[in-house]
Amino acid sequence: MLEIKNLHVKLEEEGKPILKGVNLTVEAGKVHAIMGPNGSGKSTMSYVLSGRDGYEVTEGSATLLGEDLLEMEPEERAAIGLFLAFQYPVEIPGVGNMTFLRTAVNAQRKARGLEEMDAATFLKEIRARAKELKIDAEMLKRPVNVGFSGGEKKRNEILQMAMLEPKLCILDETDSGLDVDAMKLVSDGVNALRSPDRGFLVITHYQRLLDHIKPDVVHIMYDGRIIKTGGPELALEVEKNGYADIRAEDA
Ligand code: ADP
Ligand code: MG
Ligand code: MG
Repeated sequence: MLEIKNLHVKLEEEGKPILKGVNLTVEAGKVHAIMGPNGSGKSTMSYVLSGRDGYEVTEGSATLLGEDLLEMEPEERAAIGLFLAFQYPVEIPGVGNMTFLRTAVNAQRKARGLEEMDAATFLKEIRARAKELKIDAEMLKRPVNVGFSGGEKKRNEILQMAMLEPKLCILDETDSGLDVDAMKLVSDGVNALRSPDRGFLVITHYQRLLDHIKPDVVHIMYDGRIIKTGGPELALEVEKNGYADIRAEDA
């Protein structure tokens, strides 16, 4: 599904190299977790995959469902099924949450050659999803993320994900700043969306989230590379011993 090969990325302005040869494959139906200390390049990788400005790819490739992601505009990447849940969800004053989502859903349907979802169907759909995620109907009418609590923002990201039905979901530290109840809700949302034709890349600094979202594969990123790959036990090892042993092994 997602295939990253020898990806090298530097910051456009400073010219500082951040990713130094990332190799990663995520299969359909699987949940891959990426752990790693702060500053190792986890967020940079998700930004580069989503097409954010400010980064220069100097080597390597990234494909989704066989298509070259790095050649596409961000909206084209979303249209073929890439979804990124942000570490810090953006507030959009003046744009109603429901309007925003309906526009996004229909833009994506259009790009996929599908008919627009009519207002009644959309309303029924979003109300059902919101209810499942325990999102207050009131929140749907407010401007996107404006005045939402940390937990509400994260839940709103999961609602967007549920409505857009992506092929590959990247969750970048969706757990940071969440209390236990909110984290459970987000995890339940993700687990409900697991399906044989959907892959997940869950980026997290801590093992805690992985108690709820059980990964199939765990990768450790350090200094711009994946330095170790294993099963769920790798996350437990990190929780217990930190990254020192893995770094020593790599060196
Ligand atoms: P992680 O998500 O693993 O914590 P990041 O991808 O956020 O790591 O950061 C990787 C490295 O790149 C860090 O050293 C960070 O300071 C640097 N970095 C990322 N984006 C920028 C930027 N826009 N300007 C300056 N430094 C940046
Ligand atoms: Mg960080
Ligand atoms: Mg980060």
